[in-house]
Amino acid sequence: MTSLDHLIRTLTNLPGIGRKSASRIAYYILKKEKRFSETLAEQIFKVKQNIRSCSVCGNYTECDPCDICSDPGRDRTLICVVEHPQDVHTIESTGEYRGLFHVLGGAISPIDGVGPKELTFDKLVNRTNKQPVKEIIIATNPTVEGDTTALYLVRIFTDKDIRMSRLASGIPVGGDLEYADKLTLARSLRGRIPFSS
Ligand SMILES: [Zn+2]
Repeated sequence: MTSLDHLIRTLTNLPGIGRKSASRIAYYILKKEKRFSETLAEQIFKVKQNIRSCSVCGNYTECDPCDICSDPGRDRTLICVVEHPQDVHTIESTGEYRGLFHVLGGAISPIDGVGPKELTFDKLVNRTNKQPVKEIIIATNPTVEGDTTALYLVRIFTDKDIRMSRLASGIPVGGDLEYADKLTLARSLRGRIPFSS
């Protein structure tokens, strides 16, 4: 196998990249000047080296706590709970939200061996014990796993005086937050509804 074949094979491991796209990317890299591939390799390496999880919210960050957790202008009584760090980025890009976040690290999925213990529920409970939280916005994906996770959240906070809400209309059922357009997501945030089991 040539080094080009190796690169194509590695690229097919990336999400959404099939063999055809992998081959197109590999040939593109070959065609570009050497500096391009050096920068690309360097940036991939740096991302792995410099970015870690925020010890408070679980978002990806270069400084700990992250910029959102340490921003004094944020509403600290509001926590938006998401499955993955990229969901923080997606919600931030709407410019609609000024509260804090909490990244669970996934959704409850017994088939995949992901139970509540594998996710950061305990950390979230600790946060609400340390700081007064008025509302938790559940922004898990509108999937079976996301719904199960949302119900679990409602259950663990049932005795606390915290308003639970969930993203409302607009997010396609079975879809992924990551792929929702900004306007749809902004509307869903504004139109969030109280949520209970
Ligand atoms: Zn943070």
